[in-house]
Amino acid sequence: MNQVDYLRISLIDRCNFRCLYCMPEGTDLEYALQQNLLTHAELLTLINEVFVPVGFTRFRLTGGEPLIRPGVVDIVRAIAALPETQDLSMTTNGFLLADLAQELYDAGLRRINISLDSLEPETFDKIIGHRGRSRWQQVWDGIQAAYRVGFNPLKLNVVVIPGVNDQEVLDLAALSLDREWHIRFIEFMPIGNASLFGDRGWIASEELRQQIRDRWGLTEGEVRGNGPADVFRIPGAKGTLGFISQMSECFCDRCNRMRLSADGWLRPCLLNEDEQIDLKTALRSGVPTAQLRAQVRKLLQLKPEINFKQRDSGTQSGAYSRTMSQIGG
Ligand code: SAM
Repeated sequence: MNQVDYLRISLIDRCNFRCLYCMPEGTDLEYALQQNLLTHAELLTLINEVFVPVGFTRFRLTGGEPLIRPGVVDIVRAIAALPETQDLSMTTNGFLLADLAQELYDAGLRRINISLDSLEPETFDKIIGHRGRSRWQQVWDGIQAAYRVGFNPLKLNVVVIPGVNDQEVLDLAALSLDREWHIRFIEFMPIGNASLFGDRGWIASEELRQQIRDRWGLTEGEVRGNGPADVFRIPGAKGTLGFISQMSECFCDRCNRMRLSADGWLRPCLLNEDEQIDLKTALRSGVPTAQLRAQVRKLLQLKPEINFKQRDSGTQSGAYSRTMSQIGG
């Protein structure tokens, strides 16, 4: 097993988009009440007194949509300033990024992943569940702003959905040719939304790679990220292509992460609901942080077993109760 030193922190479970694979239309999403979100101070207490002492040094801010969390720049600044922080990154839909990119950079954020599922405004709006004036351009402006400000690496996340955006794989891959952008193709994962696309929900990464190979050729990249992506490069391209293949391959042996939800649940594996710990309630009831550290250490020891054994059934109820946006993707 890898060392587990990477914590994905959801800052808020709400989002200004409703992507059809993440918050399917018609699903009744229950958001955490404002008073149940970890406060800025509670989050820092958990990082300083629980997560850092047990070995976490790399943090990613996500959501929901992290940029709608009030005070997000202050949270970035506080985490970036910790001497133990070796890496701080963010995953965002980019809609509010054009105005915030410089402030985030100045606060110490250096790495950013932006979700961009389509280059066609109409398809894009369909995926993000938006009617009315297209939101594509604003997201594109956010990406350009992040690039200008100097975020490096700048990664674009694409969830490939058959019949919706799979015809754009080559166009999206081509974004890596002239710019140092890293495009990552993600297999759709049926979590909290199993029936969404029936049995045609995802396309195996190898199929996408073959399309790209046929067009330009593809060399295995020299960049081995910290995460689950297999990284390749079109010969001569400035950027890379990553493939996150959680459906067609098992990369549990490389898993180095846990997830903290906006309401303070620590989840040892994306697919595991049963072993979560409610750190917020414990903290608010006055449980000493030394005790929370011990609980998290125990969960770290159990993680290898949780990853493999409970991969297909990480919930006793048979269905996950939280979607990706609620867990913190
Ligand atoms: N709002 C931010 C965003 O759009 O990037 C951060 C949260 S979002 C949950 C994080 C990432 O999870 C996005 O790249 C999204 O495409 C991905 N994602 C969400 N639901 C997914 C699913 N069911 N399968 C695979 N990836 C998913």
